[in-house]
Amino acid sequence: MSASLDSGLPRPSQTTTLRQRLGELRGPGTAPRALDARALAALAANPGCRRRALLDGAGVDKAALASRLGSPAPFGQSQFAIMRGNSFEAKVKADGGRELLRLLGVEEPGAVSVPDLAAAGPQGRTARTALALREATAAGTWTLLDHPLVALEVAGSPVYLEPDAVVVSPDGRWTVVEIKSFPMIDGAADASKVGAAARQSAVYVLALERTAAVTEGATVAHSVLLVCPKDFSNVPTASVVDVRKQRSVTRRQLARLIRIEEIADALPEGTTFDVEGCSSAELTEAVESVPHAYAPECLAACELAFHCRARAREAGAVETLGRAVRGELGGLTTVDAVLAAARGEAGDPEDPAVAALRRARAMRQEALDRASAPSEEAGACR
Ligand code: SF4
Repeated sequence: MSASLDSGLPRPSQTTTLRQRLGELRGPGTAPRALDARALAALAANPGCRRRALLDGAGVDKAALASRLGSPAPFGQSQFAIMRGNSFEAKVKADGGRELLRLLGVEEPGAVSVPDLAAAGPQGRTARTALALREATAAGTWTLLDHPLVALEVAGSPVYLEPDAVVVSPDGRWTVVEIKSFPMIDGAADASKVGAAARQSAVYVLALERTAAVTEGATVAHSVLLVCPKDFSNVPTASVVDVRKQRSVTRRQLARLIRIEEIADALPEGTTFDVEGCSSAELTEAVESVPHAYAPECLAACELAFHCRARAREAGAVETLGRAVRGELGGLTTVDAVLAAARGEAGDPEDPAVAALRRARAMRQEALDRASAPSEEAGACR
């Protein structure tokens, strides 16, 4: 872990050469698309995918890229949903943060401090947040940090993350607050949505821990406060979500991410993902020059999922059947190889996967024979 990361700040060290290289990959004059915790959680869910690691690292707009490839992604919120979400968030943070503290179970917080976190640029905002966290911890009063900015180094590059809020309690405990617009009905919300929110919050917890490590008296709570509308109303309600498991899984997966420099170095000379300046054919060629690791889970997490799925299907890759099936099939990597092994035309009979496939095929054949047997017998009696 680098010293600069320990201070909670990104390394100023992302080399100029790498920055230039990533700029070339995005295209001249194209601003990098910032990674957020949701994207990081998705990246951590598929750490072996070089394609996503590179495109996210370079800040390429994957949704625009997917459209140019002819496989647009079904992601994104409507303008109405965004406005509704913003007005709900304002309601949650009303009354100088007291409403939020009530949701946290603190009825009489006394004075609540809401420091101004404005600063120039992401590095300035990250430094301002780190200072506010230190001051709040030293002051020993309730403090609400509204949209702080924290940094996490991912695959050798800094990523800036913006939780909805962080509450600092008088005992120096920092709690991440995640505000969502999906409803909590009778105290429970959709499990898959809660799971996604927990994975996203775990990324914030990891980033905050870097700053807490150099802040005297600070600890980061491994439970986050999830705030949602109550029973389809606009009234906020909250639930404490334990993210210990998601934190350790994300931490492990992010550490496994392949370094972006390594992937960029392996690209053919002149490769670019310039969505504005390249033809669809050029973009397809560029995307195909980076290996991917498609799995059906990509459909819920990555803008390029339809494109990668089509390529995986064309190649007859068994990955399209799911990670569990892929794992069971061992060295058989294509559907054709699986079928040939099952028919006894290829494959080592000693290979457990091959033996299981042949057994399964024999059982299927036996079942089919049995199903057709009664009519044959009936014919013989006549
Ligand atoms: S959809 Fe493609 S690029 Fe995205 S994570 Fe999956 S394999 Fe990687």
